[in-house]
Amino acid sequence: MDILSITGAAYIVASLLFILSLAGLSRHESAKSGLTYGMVGMGVALASTVALVIDNANDTDNSLAILLMLVAVAIGAAIGLWRARIVEMTGMPELIAALHSFVGLAAVLIGWNGHLEGAHYSLDSLNNIHEAEVAIGIFIGAVTFTGSIVANLKLSAKMKSAPLMLPGKNFINLGSLAVFAVLTALYVGTDSNDSSTADVLLLVLTALALGLGWHLVASIGGGDMPVVVSMLNSYSGWAAAASGFLLNNDLLIVTGALVGSSGAYLSYIMCKAMNRSFISVIAGGFGIEAPASGDTDYGEHREVQAAEAAELLAGASSVVITPGYGMAVAQAQYPVAELTSKLRAKGVEVRFGIHPVAGRLPGHMNVLLAEAKVPYDIVLEMDEINDDFPDTDVVLVIGANDTVNPAAAEDPTSPIAGMPVLEVWNARNVIVFKRSMATGYAGVQNPLFFRDNSQMLFGDAKDKVEEIIQNLP
Ligand code: NDP
Repeated sequence: MDILSITGAAYIVASLLFILSLAGLSRHESAKSGLTYGMVGMGVALASTVALVIDNANDTDNSLAILLMLVAVAIGAAIGLWRARIVEMTGMPELIAALHSFVGLAAVLIGWNGHLEGAHYSLDSLNNIHEAEVAIGIFIGAVTFTGSIVANLKLSAKMKSAPLMLPGKNFINLGSLAVFAVLTALYVGTDSNDSSTADVLLLVLTALALGLGWHLVASIGGGDMPVVVSMLNSYSGWAAAASGFLLNNDLLIVTGALVGSSGAYLSYIMCKAMNRSFISVIAGGFGIEAPASGDTDYGEHREVQAAEAAELLAGASSVVITPGYGMAVAQAQYPVAELTSKLRAKGVEVRFGIHPVAGRLPGHMNVLLAEAKVPYDIVLEMDEINDDFPDTDVVLVIGANDTVNPAAAEDPTSPIAGMPVLEVWNARNVIVFKRSMATGYAGVQNPLFFRDNSQMLFGDAKDKVEEIIQNLP
């Protein structure tokens, strides 16, 4: 059997493993086996591609190519292992955004390589198809590259999370798409002997796409970043699929399409959960107007100490805990689990309310609570618990902010208006654990902190929960 048949078979096996991986990842119980399928699939894909490249290089007696490829694989594997080992769970989204940017950059380089090598088909129409693949691959890759860099900077707080509001921003986005279409048509129509015009057209197209990617993601506000991350995931898939067409690599086409379509579907689900328009988000906040200035005076806030909070909890019959990003930062899930079991032992009903975008990853809070062995049946989704707040004695808001902000439900001018939130303010008492009066990720002030039934418990969430445990009567 020749190497092409072997790699062809290996690519089919890898594709099936990737499909099994996605199926496994869609359910909590099967997520671990889903990951295993994905890893084995990637191992098969990598090994067969390396074998193919070695075979090609042997045919042309190009041992330098083999050496360069093996060194590149070794360096990439070493950096990947190192980053994966040291990354904190809270740093995961920005790492994912950085990885998407690599896929985008690779697609741009592959596209340029395809352009410089040129197409050598005897049929003109096939050459034109090759050129269209080059232009589309570079465009999607460049948008993904700069978009993911902006997402990384926003998620790591190196860039303001507020949306960039350039005048005529919708026109910039739509206009860029129109210019891309014209440039592609001109590039495909260029005479194959006129390489300098083709070079210039492709350079302008690349610069346009880099600028568009930057602008698209910069225009989206902090509260919508979860959708942006899954949207860039989808773009990176389409960029990989475009590279697959250029490289004539079926596995890259299949894998790219899987990532592209599952990322698009995830973005759609998240948009629905957050009451956002899918089209508006993928079009860089299309149709969203500048938010109000946000300098409203909400009055004074009240403070509470751990001892008083412990007393309130001990006297309660129902308690709901709504954790957020701050619980992950403080690693407070272990004392929170201990507090839960102590209160339950006293006969207090304790449940958790989880917002779909709490923390910095889909399912972030569920993972932390499962890690601390909080029983699964008391961890409820936002929709399952929202109607129960009026009958709740005490809500503990542990390091959550945007996901419990009443402005989303009550202030149509708020940048997070319309986003469903945990309606904790309907409970009899709310205790908010945070270190200061700072805003949450979306950069929006939270009127909850100033409500008559709210009290602030300032300090690191882990220390404060531990203090409450010590003070429980
Ligand atoms: P937020 O980011 O809105 O707020 C977290 C709060 O935790 C802050 O106000 C901060 O206040 C507090 N905090 C931080 N560290 C500590 C600590 N050690 N102890 C106590 N409190 C602490 O969190 P939410 O979970 O409510 O909302 C998530 C936000 O992130 C949403 O806007 C969402 O759209 C966005 N996002 C979500 C993603 C996802 O997939 N889930 C991905 C990307 C973004 P202080 O500094 O005063 O302590």
